[in-house]
Amino acid sequence: CFVKSKYQKIKGTFDILPPDTLLWKEVENILHNISQQFSYEEIRTPSVESIHLFQQNVGYETDVSKEMFTWKDQSKQQIALKPEMTAPVVRAYIENGFFRSNPLCRLYYIDSFFRREKPQKGRQRQFNQFGIEAFGSASIEQDVEVILMASTCLKALSISETILHINNIGSPDTRTRYEQLLTKYFLQNTKALSNLSQKRLHSNPIRILDSKEKEDQLIIKNAPIIKELLTSTEKTDFNILLSNLDALNIKYEESPHLVRGLDYYNGTTFEITTKSDKSQNALCGGGRYDFLVEQMGGPSTPAIGFAAGMERMIIESNHEMQKNNVDVYISCNELKNSTKCFSIMQHLVENDYKVFFDTNKKSVKNQMKDAIKRNASFVLVIDKNMTIKNIKSNEKIAVSDFQQLLNFLRTQ
Ligand code: AMP
Repeated sequence: CFVKSKYQKIKGTFDILPPDTLLWKEVENILHNISQQFSYEEIRTPSVESIHLFQQNVGYETDVSKEMFTWKDQSKQQIALKPEMTAPVVRAYIENGFFRSNPLCRLYYIDSFFRREKPQKGRQRQFNQFGIEAFGSASIEQDVEVILMASTCLKALSISETILHINNIGSPDTRTRYEQLLTKYFLQNTKALSNLSQKRLHSNPIRILDSKEKEDQLIIKNAPIIKELLTSTEKTDFNILLSNLDALNIKYEESPHLVRGLDYYNGTTFEITTKSDKSQNALCGGGRYDFLVEQMGGPSTPAIGFAAGMERMIIESNHEMQKNNVDVYISCNELKNSTKCFSIMQHLVENDYKVFFDTNKKSVKNQMKDAIKRNASFVLVIDKNMTIKNIKSNEKIAVSDFQQLLNFLRTQ
């Protein structure tokens, strides 16, 4: 019968339930392993940070900053649930003096983030990301490595139908000149722009390129591109990056208007989307942020990273999940035998077997049915004696102690 729960989850949040939790764990393990193969080290930071960390560094006018869950705590401190990880990682990097101890510092994370966005398919208010941040190298090889890592992760998760969009947004100087050029262009088209973009025209014209509003699309399509303003070094670096991607057989599309949502990016920016045209098709986004460490009070340190949405990757993944079958189903119906039963259970677990024990003490017949339902390989009936049965072959023997039981299991 259907029972309406007295409490419901908060809007925009989701439970991750079994058996999906198993898939999540496998995906997480794959990402942990790849990160470690590339010599990245895991970082974990608190779920809460000062609101200023994000407002001042991600940018006051960005969606991420505007959509934070925030509150004033009992000591009037302004707190935010973290909406993204780059600013917290940079904070931890500076606070812990990693720039001294680890000049080429490579970190990764898998964590939950919170944004008070309008909930819609593929857009949650609490979601999970896997991401990396590499500090201390300004060379274009670092950009290649970061993109190679993103591509390796997607390949390992059997996500194939993707497009890597790539751009170079230049130095802050180039960006300022581009901003002037864009402002001039958008001013000529003000009337046709959406209300949101008209507002951005004065606060942050580059962000108009990020607009998803329908009426902006044609104007954006014909907008000037930054490539023409790049210095010769920036152009050379970009070409080196692209030729390395060619050599690695990583397909890409140059996207001259890809600027990404946050204020702190410069140089290489990229986004990996699915080939489908559904609206939330971005799997992963990243880029260089060479000025953020210094802006946040650390020494001048080049950096680059990306973040990938776990929920979206899991939806797109064709990864085949391993079955979590029970090895030994323990059937025991009498209290007087349960101590013996727990001792066997303890030994089985210590020997890496997966066990299931029916604490409801159903009848042996019903336990047999249950064992089959749970795909158990063996049933161990414990009463006065102990009998182990191979469910598939029906082979069955009496065993007098754990060693005999183990011998039987190992020969099957
Ligand atoms: P961002 O930090 O906005 O660059 O996002 C990086 C990736 O995280 C995106 O490409 C998405 O895959 C995922 N993502 C961002 N926001 C959300 C959200 N609200 N719900 C689910 N996934 C998200």
